[in-house]
Amino acid sequence: MANSQYQYVKNFERENFLLPETYIVVRVDGRGFHRFSKFYNFEKPNDVRALNVINKAAEGVFRSVQDIFMAYGDSDEYSFAFDRSSNLFERREAKLVSTVVSTFTAHYISAWASQFDEPLKPEHLPTFDGRAVCYPNLKVLRDYFAWRQVDCHINNLYNTTFWTLVLKGGLSTQEAEQRLCGTLSSDKNEILFSEFGINYNNESEMFKKGTTIVWEEPLVGTGQSGEEPSARQVQRMAKKRSKIALQLLHVDIIRDQFWGRFGPNLA
Ligand code: ATP
Ligand code: ATP
Ligand code: MG
Ligand code: MG
Ligand code: MG
Ligand code: MG
Ligand code: MG
Repeated sequence: MANSQYQYVKNFERENFLLPETYIVVRVDGRGFHRFSKFYNFEKPNDVRALNVINKAAEGVFRSVQDIFMAYGDSDEYSFAFDRSSNLFERREAKLVSTVVSTFTAHYISAWASQFDEPLKPEHLPTFDGRAVCYPNLKVLRDYFAWRQVDCHINNLYNTTFWTLVLKGGLSTQEAEQRLCGTLSSDKNEILFSEFGINYNNESEMFKKGTTIVWEEPLVGTGQSGEEPSARQVQRMAKKRSKIALQLLHVDIIRDQFWGRFGPNLA
């Protein structure tokens, strides 16, 4: 490494090393997607093409960033959970978050044309923010994902009812908002059913539950069991991983069943 009289400036840099032995979750969220979705005429309340694009972006992150065992997303956001024992980038926060965000954004842009005829315009490009949070045990990690899935459900029930009132009921957006002000979930289900013959339960599982991504086969020896893999093992695992398929699920991740099958190996 070349030394120079200037290199002292490196000492001005600060690192936040994320707490060891905790589950790191990185969440990305689209910046100004309310406007973005209007500009590209997303179908309301749920544009399937846009969900396909964001799911592909998440698959891209899953495949190219190591140590992720699960991802969950809906609307314009995705959360990625890392193995507890992951030592990726020495757990440096800025490095982890910026890598996930830029990888996600790159794949989002790359997948766009497979779903939309209209190309992305330079003045309306998709961009994302990101953050990392450490969760100390499986209970809080599960509660984190439950929080995101409940958020998806609440937003989707609201948006489904809102857009049904507008598109099928002929209400203005303002009238629809007023109509829904102060209503409970049961009221929204009732409006959909009695006024429009829509049973919310029959809506698409992807819309109601969001998308969860996991490996087709659990990865043994990926650091999930706690031991440090050698450089050679890491390389072999990366090669193996490139052949393993990903599963995109639209299931309940709040109850035990999902975690029994796909949760991290706690051995
Ligand atoms: P911020 O920059 O603070 O995140 P935002 O405008 O992105 O602001 P969000 O709360 O993240 O606000 O909401 C994202 C918005 O993007 C949703 O409210 C919805 O209008 C729109 N959106 C995202 N994905 C879709 C989709 N697949 N179909 C239809 N609309 C979508
Ligand atoms: P930021 O500008 O930092 O992104 P935000 O308000 O958009 O702030 P997010 O963490 O992106 O916060 O919010 C994600 C989702 O969590 C929101 O869509 C909202 O439903 C919910 N939420 C936001 N703030 C709170 C809060 N203080 N308590 C509970 N739920 C919240
Ligand atoms: Mg936000
Ligand atoms: Mg926000
Ligand atoms: Mg957003
Ligand atoms: Mg959002
Ligand atoms: Mg460099």
